[in-house]
Amino acid sequence: MPYLGGKELAQVYRRAQSEGFALIANNFAEPNTLLGVLAAHEEKGSDLLVQVTMGAAKFAGGGKALAGLRALARYAQAVGAEAKVGVFLNLDHVTPDGIESFIRPALAEGLCASVMIDASALPFSENVRVTRSVVELARPYGVLVEGELGVIKGAEDHVVSDEAFYTDPEEAAQFVRETGVDLLAVSVGTEHGVSAGRELKLRPELARRIRDRLWAEGLARPLVLHGASGLSAEQVRTLVAAGVCKVNKDTTYQYVYARTAAEYFASHAGEVLPPAGVAFDPITFDAMGASWKPNKKVFDPRALGGEVRKAIQAVAAQMIDQVGSGGKSLYA
Ligand SMILES: [Zn+2]
Repeated sequence: MPYLGGKELAQVYRRAQSEGFALIANNFAEPNTLLGVLAAHEEKGSDLLVQVTMGAAKFAGGGKALAGLRALARYAQAVGAEAKVGVFLNLDHVTPDGIESFIRPALAEGLCASVMIDASALPFSENVRVTRSVVELARPYGVLVEGELGVIKGAEDHVVSDEAFYTDPEEAAQFVRETGVDLLAVSVGTEHGVSAGRELKLRPELARRIRDRLWAEGLARPLVLHGASGLSAEQVRTLVAAGVCKVNKDTTYQYVYARTAAEYFASHAGEVLPPAGVAFDPITFDAMGASWKPNKKVFDPRALGGEVRKAIQAVAAQMIDQVGSGGKSLYA
């Protein structure tokens, strides 16, 4: 299935809205995570949405964000072309300083199906202005735009009530109406961005109220859940039933990656690290007279990479079950 654009992604979201499922938005910065989530989505018959932050792009490009984005997008495009499901790329959390340097070239080069503009640190009217400018920029390409509402109100005197961290349904409707965004990231109590570190109560009924308010105004938009790592299966199912159609996942994969690597090397330490007192030269492979040699079957990066892919595939498959996207691919 070819790598797909915004028009096809909009169809997936329409089906998600009418049938009550969500896509996991899978962050990646290197191939093992990408290939692990792709394997899970093929196994489950779910279309695949992957996403790249500017930070991930910068990492992949050795410090150059646009070069890194091109590399990651083309990698996804190349493996997507042979995939059994639709593969889509979202630009995640692009801040206003990335509109010209990141979003504009990505649109012109056809690198993504959707883009999230995060101007949520700006006051409401500025957020609207910046977000609307990205909607206008993306429209001719058919690329979808996700916006996020700033949620801190009444931050004066360093006293901020918990209420200030939740999205207000009326403000959400005004934001969608004035910006024309295709998707809306809402704050319903997950730990993310401004609310990070606070113990917020999860409020699925608020997601439902926001969705109902939008629908009542003819602004039916898929809701997006950020900061979703750490939620239970039951919490995710409740939020999806309340109108969430995109669930961002980054931290879970980072942890699974690191844990797999830690366990792998802990169980193979003696085949990689020379014994105490033995100096081993990685260029000459000289162990200074000792007979110890490292095990190439273990230290070849493909060995760990294969383990990482399997572990990522397993956890992604579980999360696909939570959001209900299995068997729903439009492009299988
Ligand atoms: Zn986020």
